[in-house]
Amino acid sequence: SGMLRVFTCLTDDHNPWLIIVAGALCLAGAGVSIAVLRRAAQTVGWSRAGWLLMASVATGTFVWCTHFIAMLAYEPGAMLGFDLLLTLCSVLLAVIGCGAASTLAVTGWRGAATLGGAGLGLSIGLMHYAGMAAFGRGGVIAFDRSYVVASLLAGTGCAIMALRAALRSAAGHGAEEHASGRLGAGRREAVLGTLWLGLAVVSLHLTGMTAVTVTLPRPLALEGTMRTELALAAGGVGLLVLAAVAAAWMIDHQTRAESGNHLRRLADSAMEGLAITQDGLIIEANDTFRAMVGIAALRLLGMPLPGTLLTMRGALESSGGQRQEGRLSHADGSALDVEVVTRDDVPSPGMRIYAFRDLRERREQERRILYVAMHDALTGLPNRARFAQRMDQMLQLAEREDPPHPVALLHLDLDRFKDVNDLHGHAGGDALLRGIGRRLSQAIPAQAFAARLGSDEFGVLLPFTQEAEVFELIVRLESALAEPNHIGGGEVSITAATGIALFPTDATRGDELRAYADLAMRRAKASAGRGLRFYHAEIDVAERHRRQMSEDMRAALKKEHFRLYAQLQIDITTSEPCGHEMLLRWLHPEHGLIPPADFIPLAEENGLILPIGEWVLREACAMAAAHPHLGKVAVNLSPVQFSQPDLPQQVASALAASGLSPWRLELEITETTLMQDQARTVLLLKRIKALGVSVAIDDFGTGYSSLSTLRSFPFDKIKLDRSFMAEIETSPQAIAILRAVIGIGRGLDIPVLAEGVETETQLTLLRAEGCAEAQGYLFGRPEPVPGNRGQPSSNGTLAA
Ligand code: C2E
Ligand code: CA
Ligand code: CA
Repeated sequence: SGMLRVFTCLTDDHNPWLIIVAGALCLAGAGVSIAVLRRAAQTVGWSRAGWLLMASVATGTFVWCTHFIAMLAYEPGAMLGFDLLLTLCSVLLAVIGCGAASTLAVTGWRGAATLGGAGLGLSIGLMHYAGMAAFGRGGVIAFDRSYVVASLLAGTGCAIMALRAALRSAAGHGAEEHASGRLGAGRREAVLGTLWLGLAVVSLHLTGMTAVTVTLPRPLALEGTMRTELALAAGGVGLLVLAAVAAAWMIDHQTRAESGNHLRRLADSAMEGLAITQDGLIIEANDTFRAMVGIAALRLLGMPLPGTLLTMRGALESSGGQRQEGRLSHADGSALDVEVVTRDDVPSPGMRIYAFRDLRERREQERRILYVAMHDALTGLPNRARFAQRMDQMLQLAEREDPPHPVALLHLDLDRFKDVNDLHGHAGGDALLRGIGRRLSQAIPAQAFAARLGSDEFGVLLPFTQEAEVFELIVRLESALAEPNHIGGGEVSITAATGIALFPTDATRGDELRAYADLAMRRAKASAGRGLRFYHAEIDVAERHRRQMSEDMRAALKKEHFRLYAQLQIDITTSEPCGHEMLLRWLHPEHGLIPPADFIPLAEENGLILPIGEWVLREACAMAAAHPHLGKVAVNLSPVQFSQPDLPQQVASALAASGLSPWRLELEITETTLMQDQARTVLLLKRIKALGVSVAIDDFGTGYSSLSTLRSFPFDKIKLDRSFMAEIETSPQAIAILRAVIGIGRGLDIPVLAEGVETETQLTLLRAEGCAEAQGYLFGRPEPVPGNRGQPSSNGTLAA
């Protein structure tokens, strides 16, 4: 009968239109309140406080409005006159109560939603009865206690259901929505929450109204029209408030949806795999991650990530953002090594963000970089760095055996590769190298290792047991090289000089072995015939010889075994002598007279050229001073002598000691001297020239940059190299160069001396071209100066 009473109360005693208005307002209000409350649960801090305020205003307003309009719909209005203050109080009560209950509900604590729901139900009840009291001021009202209790129970129960439904994992969903940007998830919960909340208000109100009995009817305080107006006013205000709150929610919703979409697109275009887990279960993942594990988006949601899909190498570090390595298992059973960065310093507890980078790609890239670093781009052969690495490995392995396993190092250097480049261009040269590289790598046996060591140099390492294997390899390499190269439509054949050094016979260290093979190659290059040399076969002898020569040279300085020979220079126009070039000789006690070309390079290497050069300077000056008929004397200076900053002082002191006037001394330098440190050399030359000594450029025309040499310093004489004389009678080019040099000399006002004049024809030619001076066997060989140091007066046959 209780239910019946409630029902009849609704149908009999109420204005149906206002009931509909009240119901609609109730439903709309419940919807807005639940939406805002859910939003509050998804946020923190001030944002949550703001949403909670909105939730309490929305809830309080709609509950009160619903109640107010429903009251006005109550037909047996005999009782009605209402108390404004109490009504306002009931609104305030509703707002405060709902606010407190909502705040409690969204804390996320255990049972918070239930407690909050209960609080909400009680607040609605409180408001209802306070409102009733406000209306009932004009009459005597009796409450049926059991109905009051029933109404509170119904309202509270429904409110609890409402909040439990609405806030079921609202926070979790909120986080997911936040990460994925996909809103609308959890719509079911929102709808359920709305219905339950609406039901809470309706059930409480109806049951509450049934509990009321008006015992003392009083005349109507409100007219029917007035009543409707009031109802509409209250409804309007309520709707306005709700609309404002709903607008705020919608703006926020739209903004998040948009930024969410941006985020999602951003995440999907990331190169890294991204996944978000809640309590270890995947709630979101981007395209890259889905591809990494080979699982579609829908199936991926809710799958556990760590432990199943992902195994970590080492313990999983969280939130630090450090890079760790792990392995993702792919749906097809394969595994993918990844670099993992995880973060869990995000607002929602239990949530973790994973970023994965495919290590395969990086490893592949590292491999490629290593390959490039270790290989020659042109031929694809390993390069010098790789060769050195491989040699060290091989020697280490070889050393472990007892006796050490022998390894041969072959150093090949193509002959006249530069010519191929000049003739066929760089493309032709490249093609040749590519072909040779290919054939070399095909020719070598499996245990050997070939590499390109330099532009036209190749190296081969061969571990062997019998020396015959080395010879077999040599034969194979030679026939590989001998194959004709097809370049630019023609055939180009090429040869190579090969130097071979053996481990451990020749050397036990890698760098030594390389140096020896290189040396052997140089010797092979220098020799005529088959360009092949073993290091050990001759190097002992050569090295010992060099050491002995150095010793002898030192002794020769002490024992005064050096001599200066003089070679006549003549003035071509007058055919008169104009000076002498002083040329060094070594009177070796065993080997006899040694020409300078045979010992000066060694002296330059071991540094003895410095004391020897100083001796030459002093001796030449002394001889010139003692023999005025020598005229001007020319002395050769080695490039090495220009490393001495006191070279000008040496010259000055030689002049002073001999008393020779400086204009009788000429110093000859070659272009090589100027090429090493031009600024410094020119400075020294200027100081020397300031002494009054003249400076000639020697061997002119053999260097690379003869013309720029002439610009760098004001030389007093150009000595045209003797190689031009040999060709001058047959080669028009040589004559052209002679003419050009004489022309330049004339232009710069520098006399030209032609070296190596051996025939009258040459002299006639030089005279016709206007060359100033000449020197050569035609006028005299380098000879000892008679009466000097007890030398035989003539020994021309011994000269070079
Ligand atoms: P250079 O300065 O070009 O000296 C000229 C060389 O040509 C001399 O060889 C000389 O004997 C040679 N010669 C002269 N006329 C003729 C000729 O008509 N036909 C041919 N075929 N050769 C001719 P030498 O004396 O053996 O000297 C060789 C090189 O040694 C010199 O070339 C010079 O660069 C260097 N040299 C000689 N003496 C000294 C010295 O005291 N100090 C330094 N640092 N180097 C020296
Ligand atoms: Ca000279
Ligand atoms: Ca010369």
